[in-house]
Amino acid sequence: VEPDPQAGAAVKAADRAHVFHSWSAQGLIDPLAVAGAEGSYFWDYDGNRYLDFTSGLVYTNIGYQHPKVVAAIQEQAGKLATFAPAFAVDVRSEAARLIAERTPGDLNKIFFTNGGAEAVENAVRMARLHTGRTKLLSAYRSYHGATSTAINLTGDPRRWASDTASAGVVHFWAPFLYRSPFYATTEAEECARALQHLEDTIAFEGPQTIAAIILESVPGTAGIMIPPPGYLAGVREICDRYGIVLILDEVMAGFGRTGRWFAAEHFDVVPDLLTFAKGVNSGYVPLGGVAISEEIAATFDKRPYPGGLTYSGHPLACAAAVATIHVMEDEKVVEHAAHIGETVLGPGLRELAERHPSVGEVRGLGVFWALDLVRNKETREPLVPYNAAGEANAPMAAFAAEAKKNGLWPFVNMNRTHAVPACNISEAEAKEGLAALDAALTVADRHTV
Ligand code: PLP
Repeated sequence: VEPDPQAGAAVKAADRAHVFHSWSAQGLIDPLAVAGAEGSYFWDYDGNRYLDFTSGLVYTNIGYQHPKVVAAIQEQAGKLATFAPAFAVDVRSEAARLIAERTPGDLNKIFFTNGGAEAVENAVRMARLHTGRTKLLSAYRSYHGATSTAINLTGDPRRWASDTASAGVVHFWAPFLYRSPFYATTEAEECARALQHLEDTIAFEGPQTIAAIILESVPGTAGIMIPPPGYLAGVREICDRYGIVLILDEVMAGFGRTGRWFAAEHFDVVPDLLTFAKGVNSGYVPLGGVAISEEIAATFDKRPYPGGLTYSGHPLACAAAVATIHVMEDEKVVEHAAHIGETVLGPGLRELAERHPSVGEVRGLGVFWALDLVRNKETREPLVPYNAAGEANAPMAAFAAEAKKNGLWPFVNMNRTHAVPACNISEAEAKEGLAALDAALTVADRHTV
């Protein structure tokens, strides 16, 4: 593709004049003008190409512009571009069947939304109506979306500005051995203490007041902390004991990211409600949803479910989901994600950690990896303070700039970089990404003490 800086400048100028961006001080941002994307790469108007180690916002699980999914959307647009949610539509029925067949256990009914936050809002509504209780428990170090309840459930600083209407949201600490809230030194100890802390929280909040516990099966944005063996099973048992609904949020971890269709499979745990979005159709058309257990679905057999969305199960989004799931099956994308994690990304990232003083810990699985960057490996002091901005965040900014200079678009959150490429990234591309990370970490190393 020929560079065209003038076209890029026009795109940027219109953006700055009229597009109001998420999470940003509007006067301080300088978004890159994107000219195109394919597979694991995207490029700008100035002739720069980037290997995308972010999968957008961790959602293009089959990469950009997969021809079969693009064709399916085009075909659906020609056939029936839209239809209201109260009707039975072939492609909606098929998407629901394919999703329900892949979700664990008896999660056999699918309520479609336009994205992850709406999935969380509706899962919570179902849990409250099913139990007749209102309180919700969620973890610090979590992200559940940016709408009113979803942002209250979120356990990171983005919640603070919107924490006014939390209506009984209580946060607790989930296990994370590297930065243990429980002073634990082994996974087993961390697991036992985290479960006891959850039990204590429930006792003091009143078990009979709690509608649901929501957890990401593997927390994503907050740092890709794989729960220790037994933790999710322990939470499941606690929920059963107190009649609390277990919601597993698989918006980020689902659809292949961890090398399984759903991350819950790694832990043999079946939630009552499972939220999904992102990878369900690689975000080619907005789609999310809630997979619902038979028991909770039965609550609404005779009683109307008081929730809905104009675009619930939009035919274009569902056509993209059907095509994406077929591509993932036909091209063994989920198995590939597991394989590339075990053979290339995991070993490669661990090797970087050995050589770079700034890498405190490597954790992850599949195509879902975090590097916890530190000022000092012994003290584990984060490379930048929690929620750092401006000058305090300079080491992470320098790291990201160096990665981009080396043709890698990195995912950066606080003191971490995540390696979260497409599930179908090739071995050569993954190695190219590791080499660019290697160069960028040399810059981070300069800030260690
Ligand atoms: N839940 C999880 C685990 C997420 O990672 C996200 C988004 O990153 C959401 C919910 C919110 O999804 P959306 O941005 O589609 O509303």
